[in-house]
Amino acid sequence: MDTTRSPTASPRHRLSTRRRAGSQAHHHPAHDLHEHGVAAIRNFLRCHTCYDAFPVSFRLIVLDTKLTVKKALQCFLLNGVVSAPLWNSQTSSFAGMLTVLDIIHLIQYYYRTTDFERAATEVETFRLESLRAIERHLGVAPPPLTQEHPSNSLFDAAKLIIQTHARRLPLLDSDSETGQQVVISVLTQYRLLKFISINCHKEIQQLHLSLKRLRIGTYVMSPSPDPSNPYFPLATAKMDTSVFDIVHIFSERSISAVPIIDEDGVVLNMYETVDVITLVRLGAYQNLDLKIREALTQRSSDFPGVVICTASDSLGTLLQLIKKRRVHRLVVVEGEEEEKRGGKKGRLLGIITLSDVLRYIVGHADISEPRMKPSTASTEAPSSTPIS
Ligand code: AMP
Repeated sequence: MDTTRSPTASPRHRLSTRRRAGSQAHHHPAHDLHEHGVAAIRNFLRCHTCYDAFPVSFRLIVLDTKLTVKKALQCFLLNGVVSAPLWNSQTSSFAGMLTVLDIIHLIQYYYRTTDFERAATEVETFRLESLRAIERHLGVAPPPLTQEHPSNSLFDAAKLIIQTHARRLPLLDSDSETGQQVVISVLTQYRLLKFISINCHKEIQQLHLSLKRLRIGTYVMSPSPDPSNPYFPLATAKMDTSVFDIVHIFSERSISAVPIIDEDGVVLNMYETVDVITLVRLGAYQNLDLKIREALTQRSSDFPGVVICTASDSLGTLLQLIKKRRVHRLVVVEGEEEEKRGGKKGRLLGIITLSDVLRYIVGHADISEPRMKPSTASTEAPSSTPIS
C-alpha cells in the first residue's frame, strides 16, 4: 500500500508483537532478564570504540563552508545523505554539521523576512558560512560543535549524543604531523543502534519489557492538560495543515517528525524534516502554503513508509526491526487491547524516536556500573551503507 499518496492508507509497517510483555512484567524473572540484557548491552558499548561501529565501506562527504546552499543541497540529493560535516578551509578546521534543521531555519528566515521570489534567488547564492548568522537572527541556539575521537568508547559517544540532543556525532582525529583536525566519520544514532542490534543478538532477546512500561518515547497524556491539544504533549497535524506551519513546529519544538492524524486521531501518515528537502529541491520556497495532503504526493516513490507499533511491543522487537530496516521513528497507536476498552484502533498514542531508545539504553548519564567481562558478541560487520 502506498502510504505517501492516499490519505486513507494506513501506515503499512507494523511491528509484530512477539509477546505480551506488559502482562508478564510483574514476574521478577522476566524483569531481571531484561535488566541483565540492558546491562550487558551497556557493557558491550563500553568495550567497543566508535571505530568498531564503522561500516566496512562508507563515503564521507565533507562540505566547504564557502559552498553555496544550493550546491550543498544538490550534493545531499545526489548522494542520498541529509547531513554533512562542514570544513572551514581558511582556518583548516571543522566547522560543525550541516543538517536538515539548518535548511529549515533558512526557510523560516526567508519566509519571515523577504518575499518569495527574492528568497528563491538569494538561496542560490547564499553560502553555508552565513547559516550561523541566520540562526542568530532567528534566536535559535547554534548547533553545538560537539565531536568525539573515534577511539573513544561507543558508550561515551552515545552519552554525548544524548546530552547534546544531537542526532549524529562527528568523529575527529588530529594529524600527527601537522596537528590539524581530520574528520574521520560521523556516528549516527541509527548506526549505533544497528551496531547493537547486529552484535547483541542474545541480549536483545532478553529485552522483554514493553515500550510503554519502560516509558521509552513520548506519550499522549490523558486527560490532556492543554484544552487546545488533545494529544498533548505530542505535536500533530492534519492533512490540511500547511507545510509552513509544520516547518515552524519542527523548528520551535526541535523535533524531526509530526504524525498526520484524522478527526478521530487515527494516524494517516507522518511528515518529516527530510520531506522539506524534497520541497526545496522542487524550488518550493514559494510553496510553503502547500497543504500536507499535496506535499505528501511529492514524496519520492522510495519513501520507506511509516512504522507503527503498539505500546505492548517490546524493546527487543524494536531493536530487531532496527537491524532489518533503516527506521528512525515509530508511531505508537491504539491496538486491539485499547479497542476492547473503548478505544479506537490506529488512534495516536505516542511516538518513539531513536534518541528515546538510545537514552533508555545508555541510562542516566552518570550511571557507573561495574565493567563486566567483555561480551562474547561477534563484531560481525554491518552491511555497507552510506552514513547519513
Ligand atoms: P528526535 O530528535 O526526533 O529524536 O525527538 C526528540 C524528542 O521529541 C524525543 O523524545 C521524541 O519522543 C519527541 N518527539 C518526537 N516527535 C514528536 C512530536 N511530534 N511531538 C512531541 N514530541 C515528539
